[in-house]
Amino acid sequence: MPVYEFQCKKCSEVFEVKCRVEEYSKLKPTCPKCKSEEVERKISTFYAQTESKT
Ligand SMILES: [Zn+2]
Repeated sequence: MPVYEFQCKKCSEVFEVKCRVEEYSKLKPTCPKCKSEEVERKISTFYAQTESKT
């Protein structure tokens, strides 16, 4: 499961949200610190990962 990293625009808190890719569109991340929904996605690294089942 990919981990999405967000940063709060209000308090600059950085937090991670685990979410399935197919549920990402329904994801409403909120800052765990100030409960703000004004968060922005941080640059992610998981796109570079290739899922392997070996
Ligand atoms: Zn915040």
